[in-house]
Amino acid sequence: MLVRQISHQLLHLKLHDVSSIDGDAETSHESINDSAQIQLSNLKTIDTLGIGGYGRVNLVTYNNKAFALKILNKAHLKNTNQKEHIKNEKNILLACNSDFIIKLNQTFRDSKRLYLLMEYCPGGEVFTHLRIKGKFEEETAKYYMAAAMEAIEYLHSKCIIYRDLKPENMLLDKNGYPKLADFGFAKKLSSKYGSTFTFCGTVNYVAPEMILNKGHSFGVDIWAFGIFMYELLSGVPPFTHADPIDTYKAIISGFELMEWPLSINEQTKSLICKFCRMKPIHRLGYGNLEYARKDEWFKGFDFEAFRDRKMRPPIIPKLKNLTDTRNFEKVPAEDNFSSDEDCSDWDFDF
Ligand code: ATP
Ligand code: MG
Repeated sequence: MLVRQISHQLLHLKLHDVSSIDGDAETSHESINDSAQIQLSNLKTIDTLGIGGYGRVNLVTYNNKAFALKILNKAHLKNTNQKEHIKNEKNILLACNSDFIIKLNQTFRDSKRLYLLMEYCPGGEVFTHLRIKGKFEEETAKYYMAAAMEAIEYLHSKCIIYRDLKPENMLLDKNGYPKLADFGFAKKLSSKYGSTFTFCGTVNYVAPEMILNKGHSFGVDIWAFGIFMYELLSGVPPFTHADPIDTYKAIISGFELMEWPLSINEQTKSLICKFCRMKPIHRLGYGNLEYARKDEWFKGFDFEAFRDRKMRPPIIPKLKNLTDTRNFEKVPAEDNFSSDEDCSDWDFDF
């Protein structure tokens, strides 16, 4: 619990002060309600899996099948200018079909809340496993990096930027296969040349162009690969200060003045720096991630075997049954989100 608090307060402070709001996601999708059969009232709550920045996620069951139910309070979403973000999250998840991205089964709404019913990943967050181990071996880091690259390459091919890569948002299924979750900050751009301005994400992971409010696009996710890789190999993200302003200053100064931990060797350093170049278009893999896969650091890593699930995952979750929550940190049963009614109908199409 303490680790979680420190992580969320200091290391991975989520940005709440969204200064401008993105437009509607234009993602097309078939209405899941066409095939919807599950009633909200038929879901049985088993446990709480997580309390995030904007709501809670419960483990629920229906017909002996386990699901994760993300629950967001509408008044809270409205008060914190997150209305468009939750619509983006739903529309984008519905438009995705990738082994490396969590599946959204169905959504619900009532006068107080919005609900996303998703596949349950009982292996927990990569973050939790990283905290247990302290830092990962290179082979383990390569595996999760490869998964992040598959997921984000898929999103970019659909003109979607993800904007919240971090070990908390990568979950493990029952076999240990990683899946990207939490699409609260994902956004579909108008074209591959489009850009957007909303300041969002997680403090340590934001790219310099976002801090400088220059407009950003796919490059922010490439920057995040470098931060993610560093965190997997050392246990903490590179730019980490108690005050977010100091973190932003450090991000803008880049890696040049930074002292590197001994666990990160020259070859690794080199790839992190190539992902985290100041100019987005200079970042390795911008426009074509194949260049990053060909980097020396990945030498010997068989991406094909990885994609075909022929590579044994580095962490295979211990599970008693499919509703086992042992891989999740205990979270309080209560939260502080406003649970007022909101009947203004901004969510009519949710
Ligand atoms: P945060 O502000 O912490 O990023 P959030 O409100 O955007 O959170 P999510 O990241 O989607 O919410 O979910 C919070 C946590 O709930 C996850 O980090 C994970 O521990 C758990 N969780 C979410 N979705 C699932 C799932 N499909 N299966 C298992 N656990 C999940
Ligand atoms: Mg999250």
